[in-house]
Amino acid sequence: MPRPILATIHTDALHHNLARVRAAAPDAKVWAVVKANAYGHGIERVYEGLRGADGFAMIDLAEAERVRALGWRGPLLLLEGVFEPRDLELCSRLGIWHAVHCDEQIDWLAAHKTQVPHRVFLKMNSGMNRLGFTPARYRAAWARLSALPQVEEISLMTHFSDADGPRGIAHQLAVFREATRDLPGERSISNSAATLRHGGEAEVRGINEGGWVRAGIVLYGSAPDHPERTAAQWGLEPTMTLSAKLLGTQQLQRGDTVGYGSRFTAEGPLLIGVAACGYADGYPRHADTGTPVLVKGVRTRLVGRVSMDMVTVDLTPLQQAGIPVGMGDEVTLWGRASDGTWLSIDDVAQAAGTVGYELMCAVAPRVPVVVG
Ligand SMILES: *Cc1c(COP(=O)(O)O)cnc(C)c1O
Repeated sequence: MPRPILATIHTDALHHNLARVRAAAPDAKVWAVVKANAYGHGIERVYEGLRGADGFAMIDLAEAERVRALGWRGPLLLLEGVFEPRDLELCSRLGIWHAVHCDEQIDWLAAHKTQVPHRVFLKMNSGMNRLGFTPARYRAAWARLSALPQVEEISLMTHFSDADGPRGIAHQLAVFREATRDLPGERSISNSAATLRHGGEAEVRGINEGGWVRAGIVLYGSAPDHPERTAAQWGLEPTMTLSAKLLGTQQLQRGDTVGYGSRFTAEGPLLIGVAACGYADGYPRHADTGTPVLVKGVRTRLVGRVSMDMVTVDLTPLQQAGIPVGMGDEVTLWGRASDGTWLSIDDVAQAAGTVGYELMCAVAPRVPVVVG
């Protein structure tokens, strides 16, 4: 029998979250961002839930091929563009759109022999300082691209560094506005946080209208600005459940310690459970005593250190509620319990000093996954 651990991908929640994005950006087309294997969910597993999007955006050409192989005939976008000249051949063959963020990528396009002109998204560095042309060099890049017979249409794109936080997007929006004034082309500026938090602002609405938002984390039911607002407060549903079963229990007495390094000491009699999930499954080792977890849908906490193959959980809340608990009972590390109770991946991430993105991307290959 395989280890009792399972990840479940929820198609209905993907549908729901996509509708939530559409409500936040009603006049925009939606890129469903499926990079990093659909944020760890599996591209093939999320396809059904996200095929209502207007396009799929990713980083890897191989991931774009996988979406085409699923039968998708609509737009695909490489968010970082191509990594070497010969990548352009596959873009031509499969009709894949690509970002252009540097002069080398324009050189490659200029030298590319193709019957099919390409659709490109010209990336501006409006303050994030990762990829993109600076505002001063943006127009020259646009002019070069628009003179190329290999290019059919140019869209204008930038990315925000602080859409999820107090600094906000106004400073970058001003830079983008100024540098793209009177340039034609569809715009794409908003990630999940910008879509949810700033989608109602007049200028953002105007830019989104007829343009594209790039929705990633929101589709996967995690709040981009947790804990300021939770996924539930944003009306999002968890798209991934990580569940396991109890392998056993231990009745502790006062002074007994739990696990490696004796990180936890019982202050009195305490029943704990041992669940079949550890850091080799992608559960964060930095999750300390107190990290939330559900046992039979009842919220409780981790006690002691996360091991490679196991975690230990406090069963007191079940005992107090008179709920029998033991071997084989359901433990929900994040997502939906069988009784419908939820534990947000963001709560677990926060306890481990990280974000929901990292946890969902890190679910290990040894964890079996089903679509439910
Ligand atoms: C990953 C990514 C997104 C999606 O970001 P979320 O915060 O997950 O919505 C959007 N745009 C670009 C360029 C990205 O790389």
